Amino acid sequence: RAKDEGRGVFRYFQSEMDARMKARRQLEMELRAALIMGEFELYYQPFVSTETNAVTGFEALLRWKHPQRGMVSPLEFIPLAEEIGLITPIGEWVLRKACAEAATWPIHMRVAVNLSAVQFRGHKLTPVVASALASAGLRPDRLELEITESVLLRDSQANITTLHQLRELGVRISMDDFGTGYSSLSYLRSFPFDKIKIDQSFVRDMAANSGDAAIVRAVTGLGASLGISTTAEGVETLAQLEQLRAEGCTEVQGYFLGRPMPSSDIPALLAARTD
Ligand code: C2E
Ligand code: MG
Ligand code: MG
Ligand code: MG
Repeated sequence: RAKDEGRGVFRYFQSEMDARMKARRQLEMELRAALIMGEFELYYQPFVSTETNAVTGFEALLRWKHPQRGMVSPLEFIPLAEEIGLITPIGEWVLRKACAEAATWPIHMRVAVNLSAVQFRGHKLTPVVASALASAGLRPDRLELEITESVLLRDSQANITTLHQLRELGVRISMDDFGTGYSSLSYLRSFPFDKIKIDQSFVRDMAANSGDAAIVRAVTGLGASLGISTTAEGVETLAQLEQLRAEGCTEVQGYFLGRPMPSSDIPALLAARTD
C-alpha cells in the first residue's frame, strides 16, 4: 500500500518534471528564434551627475518582446541564454545596437552595456567590441562595459587579461552590483575599474538602515580615494538622491531619475531637461 502510494508520488514528480523540461525546451526554441525574428529590443536608462544634474549617459537594458508572452524580463531569459551559449550572439547584437544608437546621441553622452561572464570565453570579445565601435563610428571612451563579479571568479586570469585588452581599446570598465559579491573589495584590487556601481539593495534602505547608509558612505569614500567614480543604482526618491549627493556619490541612476525607455523616447527626455 505504502509502496503504491510512493509510486504515485514518484509518477506525480515524474510528470511534473516532464512538464518543466518541456516548458524549458519550448522557451529554448523560442529564444533561439528570437534573435532571427528581431524580437529583442534595447531600453535605455539615464545616468545623472549629482554635481550638475545633467544626463551623462544611458545604460542599455535588454528586452525580449515575445509575440505571445509579452515582455520577458532579462532575469528570466539571460541565465538560459548563458546556459545554451546563446548569450554570445545575443551579446554581440546588444553591443552593435547600443553603439549604433549611442552614435546618434549628443557627443558627450556615454552608453553602458552589460556583459555576461560567458562572453569572456574564447578570444572573440575584444575584436567584437572593436568592430562594434568602428561600424558605429563611436569614440571608444563613450562606451562603458559593465561586468559583475562572476567575470572575476572563474578563469579570472584570462578574463583580467581580456579586461586589459578592452581597456587598451579605450573603453571604460564598470563593476556592476558592487557589494553583493563574496569579496567585493578584492575585485577592486584585481583590476583598476573606472566606475563602481553601488548595488540597489544598499540604496533602497539607506534612510532607514544606518548599516546600509554606512556601506554607501564607505564605498563612495573608497571610490573617491582610489579615483574611481561611483554610481548609485536603484534611486527611487528625492531623499535618496539628496543623501547620495551629500555622500559625494558621482552619479545616480534609478526610477526617480528615469525608467528604462525605448530609444525613441530619448530625444524628448533630453529636450525636457534644462541641463
Ligand atoms: P543591472 O545591470 O544591475 O541593471 C539594473 C536593473 O535594475 C535593471 O533591471 C533596471 O531596470 C532595474 N532598475 C533600475 N532602476 C531601478 C529602480 O529605481 N528600482 C528598481 N527596483 N529597479 C531599478 P532589468 O532591466 O530587468 O535588468 C536586470 C539585469 O539583467 C541587469 O541588472 C543585468 O544584470 C541583466 N541584463 C540586462 N540587459 C542585459 C544585457 O544586454 N546583457 C547581459 N549580459 N545582461 C543584461
Ligand atoms: Mg548593469
Ligand atoms: Mg546593477
Ligand atoms: Mg543587477
